[in-house]
Order: sequence, then structure tokens, then C-alpha cells
Amino acid sequence: MAKMTVRDIDVRGKRVLCRVDFNVPLEGSRISDDSRIQESMPTINHIVGNGGRLILVAHFGRPKGKVSDEMRLTPVAARLGEILGKAVRLFDPFAEGWDQAEAASRALADGDVMMLENIRFHPGEEKGDEDLARSLARLGDVYVNDAFGAAHRAHSSTATVAKHVQPAVAGFLMEKELKFLGEALANPERPFIAIIGGSKISTKFGVLDALLGKVDRLLIGGGMAYTFFKAKGFAIGKSICEDDQIEAAKALMAKAGDKLMLPVDTVYADEFSDDAKVITYPVDEVPSNCEMQGLDIGPETISLMEDCIMTSKTIFWNGPLGVFELERFAEGTEQVGRFIVESGATSIVGGGESAAACRKYGFAGEITHISTGGGASLEFIEGRSLPGVEALTDK
Ligand code: ADP
Ligand code: MG
Repeated sequence: MAKMTVRDIDVRGKRVLCRVDFNVPLEGSRISDDSRIQESMPTINHIVGNGGRLILVAHFGRPKGKVSDEMRLTPVAARLGEILGKAVRLFDPFAEGWDQAEAASRALADGDVMMLENIRFHPGEEKGDEDLARSLARLGDVYVNDAFGAAHRAHSSTATVAKHVQPAVAGFLMEKELKFLGEALANPERPFIAIIGGSKISTKFGVLDALLGKVDRLLIGGGMAYTFFKAKGFAIGKSICEDDQIEAAKALMAKAGDKLMLPVDTVYADEFSDDAKVITYPVDEVPSNCEMQGLDIGPETISLMEDCIMTSKTIFWNGPLGVFELERFAEGTEQVGRFIVESGATSIVGGGESAAACRKYGFAGEITHISTGGGASLEFIEGRSLPGVEALTDK
């Protein structure tokens, strides 16, 4: 790793300003899944256990630069307090001011933890504002970034702040993400395949193109496949399709040749529901007057993917193969996930919904690495530099 990590610094007695990704799902004021908090516990425990004075910075939701009572971090601070078994003071610099925030940070004892209120309440955060970065920098003697999920954003608390607090180092989660996504994908054991699904091809084009140069085979499923089918001149009924991506899809198919594996059959439904009437069509036999929509890959495709997955040694998976949120159209996603685990290959999953699918079907624990960063993991694989990583101090 070219950047310094928490391993490289002595935190004892120091104020450690630490950016984390605690953007957890909430149901009312209850956290329905605290895995984002759990993922940063190795870093937090390390800092607290070694006598650091921890000041956490996090965002929650999209308050768009305004204070919003629904987006306060109160439940998050409470949950962290339970996990740590000690009080976590939630400090609101937007109400009490930065002088008070600095005073609070200086009043911490070794091993104490405080958390700042939702940093996106500040209109400068998402703009990478210098003043906000300087205000944050007053709270820390060192800076740790463990928020891989926000590392593709050049925000004040993820990137700009690192100019003003040095050293700026990676936390353990950040380090782990960069290790798996970087090293494992740069030098994969072959055959190396990628399986890409999800709804919108426009959000995945960069990654498809980048992966093409690295993988032995590129398997496509999910909603994005229909843009390829339309580009091939097949009827697709009411399936999801991005017409402005058709030319790009044609170019990608020409460039990829045999490397690209598109579905050969898909499951069409007369409505977006578990009670829908369904027909499985070979992709080139959908009637031109079809009023149905394709919502999952079909059995022939599942079987072809199985053969390919079982002989692979490294697999990157992003994006469900169908609308797995509906039981009736979950078959492709569930089966492909199982094959990935059964293959024994090194497996890396990126993307919010794909990770959710792995948890839903109970094989998340058997995946080698599930990335916590949807957008960040895709941008990293595309070969784009992540501002939150760039800003860290070189080793
Ligand atoms: P990830 O979060 O894993 O990167 P995406 O956000 O790209 O995945 O896409 C996930 C969504 O794609 C899922 O919610 C799923 O319902 C949807 N999807 C998959 N296949 C289809 C399809 N055939 N038609 C419409 N939506 C689909
Ligand atoms: Mg998603």
C-alpha cells in the first residue's frame, strides 16, 4: 500500500479526526442494518484501544447543506455507544460553533469518543469547501479516513481536510478495500471473469469498458442486457432500455467479441409483481408486438453461466441478474450467487443491491470480499483515482 495507514502512526494522547461511512439504513429511528458501523469497528477499536482521542465525522442521507432533524446522527451515535460500551457524545458544531467543537475535542481524555453531527448539514461539505476543511482540521492532530464508500467524492471531510491535518492515513477498512479491489483485480488468478447486472447500463458503462481489458469473460445480465438486445435488433417488449446507449452498446459488442456473454433467454412478465403471468423467451424470439417486460435471466442462461463460473478462479460480481426484490424474479441472482460461492474462486462483490442479495440468500460470509462502496468500488475498478485516497499521505 502506497499510502500511510493507522498502523504507521502512534495515536496515544492525540486527537484523531476520523471520517467514517455510517450512512446506515434507518426504519424510523431504528437502524435496520448496522453493518456499516461494524465495518469500521477494527479502526475505531484500534484508536480507542491505543489511547487515541477519537473525533468521528460522518454523513447521513442527503440533507443538501441544511440542518434536517430527520437526518441527525443521534441513532448512530447511540448504536456506536452500545457497541463500544461507553458514551459517545454527539456534538453539533452547526448549533454550537467550531470554537466550542475545538474546545470539546481538547477536553477529551485518552480513549474517549465523540461524533460530529451530520457533516452534510454544512453547504460546503459536498463542494470540498476550504473553510469547512480548516474548521474540521482544528479538531484533529492526525486524520484517518476509513470511509471507502465516500472516497470517490472530493468533499471537505473526505479529501480537502487532509491538506490541513497531516499525517492523513487510511483506516483498516479503507486499507482492506484497496487491497482486495486493487491487488486482487490487478493480478488475478485466471480465468478471471466479471458478472455485471443491475438496472441501468449508463451507470456501468465505464466499468464494462475497463473490465473488458482485464477479464477472460464478461457476463451480462439484469436490466442492462435489454439495451444490448435492442442494439442487436431483437424485440424487447416493455423491458427497461436506454435508447441513448444503443450505439455505445454496439461498439462494446464489436470490441468484446467472444469475451462478452449475453443472456440467451430471459423471463418476461405481464406486470411488475410476484403474481405476474410469465413466459420465458429465447432473446431472439420475443414477438414484435410483445407487451411484457423482461425481469430475470432464463434457465438456459443460468446453465451457461454456471459452466463459466465453475471453471473460474477469480470472479468480480456487480449488479443483480434480475429484479430479485420480487421472489418470482430472484432465481437468476440467487443461483448465480450460489455458483460463485460453490466455484471456490476468489470472489469480490461490489454494489449495494448485489451485497444485499448475498446477505438475503445467506452466502455473504462465503464471499471473499464484499465491498462497502458501491460507486467508489466501480470508479476504482474503472481505474479512476479516488480523491479520498489521493489526499492521504504517501508512505
Ligand atoms: P448494485 O447496487 O448491486 O450496483 P444496481 O443498483 O445497478 O446494482 O441495480 C440494482 C437493481 O437492478 C435492482 O434493484 C434490480 O431490481 C434491478 N434490475 C435487475 N434486473 C432488472 C430488469 N431486468 N429490469 C429492471 N430492473 C432490473
Ligand atoms: Mg444500487
